[in-house]
Amino acid sequence: MGGDALLARLLAASPVTLGLGMLLAIFVALVGVRALLQLAKSIAGTRVERRVVEGLRARFSAALLQADWRTLTSLRQGEALSLLLNGIDTAGFGVHELVGLSSAVMVLGAAFLAALTLSTPVALAAIAGAAVVALAYGSVRRRSASFGELLVAGYGRLTSLLDETFGALRVIKSFSAETQTAAQIAEVDAQLTHGRVGYVALVGLAQGMLQFGGAALLAVLVWLAVARWHVQPVVLLPMVALFARVLPVLGTVQSGWSHWLNARPAVEQSLQLMGRLEAATEASAGGVVIARPQHTISLDRVTVRHPGRSTPALEAVDIVLPVNTTTVLLGPSGAGKSTVADLMGGLIAADEGALRLDGTALTSEQRIAWRGHVAYVQQEPVLFNLTVRENLRWAVPRATEARMVEALERASAQFVLDLPQGLNTSVGDSGRQLSGGERQRIVLARGLLREPALLILDEPTSALDPANELAIAEAVERMRGTLTILIIGHRGALTRLAERQVRLAGGRLVGPAQVG
Ligand code: ADP
Repeated sequence: MGGDALLARLLAASPVTLGLGMLLAIFVALVGVRALLQLAKSIAGTRVERRVVEGLRARFSAALLQADWRTLTSLRQGEALSLLLNGIDTAGFGVHELVGLSSAVMVLGAAFLAALTLSTPVALAAIAGAAVVALAYGSVRRRSASFGELLVAGYGRLTSLLDETFGALRVIKSFSAETQTAAQIAEVDAQLTHGRVGYVALVGLAQGMLQFGGAALLAVLVWLAVARWHVQPVVLLPMVALFARVLPVLGTVQSGWSHWLNARPAVEQSLQLMGRLEAATEASAGGVVIARPQHTISLDRVTVRHPGRSTPALEAVDIVLPVNTTTVLLGPSGAGKSTVADLMGGLIAADEGALRLDGTALTSEQRIAWRGHVAYVQQEPVLFNLTVRENLRWAVPRATEARMVEALERASAQFVLDLPQGLNTSVGDSGRQLSGGERQRIVLARGLLREPALLILDEPTSALDPANELAIAEAVERMRGTLTILIIGHRGALTRLAERQVRLAGGRLVGPAQVG
């Protein structure tokens, strides 16, 4: 049956036999079905988008948390944070657009088949027109991608800047650099605005051109159909109606593809960083249990090199910590003291040499398990925005009230118990509702709660006032002889408590390795 005959039969069947009421009812029902389908499509699209976002973020954060310490310290944090937040959301949005695009492509396919049944030459001419439009939009797609790169870079810079600003609020205020900092943020935001507006203008222009080009194409086709091919109105009218329906769908395909291309740089960079982190995944401690050392914790001829550095951070260093002794590690800045702390705590592995417990070198898995026996207190105390109790239980979830009180007392942090809300006191964002010294003593208590085999104090008092320094020194004095302690620092009351000394300079031991 030809297209003309089919349509003639359809039309003949319509108003007379169905009646106006029935036709209107069908119209309303069809609109209702279309609304339902659109609802289902947008919910499905959002579900797919969220699944992609959840999956990517879970994989990214796992990769980040499981990467080895050296990779993490070399990471550009602002950029990583931006990809983890904005990059992955953009990737989800891009995938959502792809879903919308695939359903639009299906509609286009169905419309093409319908057009073929009506008139083969007109349908083929429309396809040729669509191919020309697709070719003409090559530059739009390329520019969509470059706007996408601009946005990823802009968000990366903005996140870095904000991250840095939060960390430097005190410095910014004391240098009266508020205006300067606000201007820096505004400058990056202006670049983002340029990127966003440029992209929206590009896609808008492309849409407008599509509508315009579509109208022109339609005019040419109608002219050809009537004047040259002598197509009957009974075929032409449905063709025009079909074309009018198809044009917005073509617009959806065009904008969906542009949105995907615009999102792709974020997807690619997120995947690239995730790949780098996954390649640096460290061994899992798994079920490895490691016994507390009975005699020594030692570094045996360890060498550590950092990429891009001509000299090693540590070279062939031997340090022995006899169990239950207190050792101070001295040396100027850059001597390699923190690197020793990272090795002793099992945070990093040496490039050469080994960490040994009672003389036995640890495997990668044992080194990770060893971290469970180490308490590490660094210069900048880290607490979470929780109560004191929750901060302590963060380290030891099953800690009893009595053990928490005991740990606070051992760490000279009994002041917590005298606060109106005691252990329920909120410490504020990063612990900022407490003074630096108070925070540091709670951090020490949190470390002691784990009953560590090794306590590493990495310049814990260098930013504190003498009273707080003294409180921490008293706590260390009480622990002496019951715990292996490694103190890092160059001066102050703490360093005088050690019965043993190790001195480093330029990554090498200087002077006697241990002075008893
Ligand atoms: P200290 O604690 O004595 O100040 P560190 O152990 O922090 O010294 O650093 C020792 C050397 O290693 C320094 O020269 C330092 O610049 C370098 N270093 C430390 N960490 C890195 C890193 N992640 N990348 C490159 N070099 C590093």
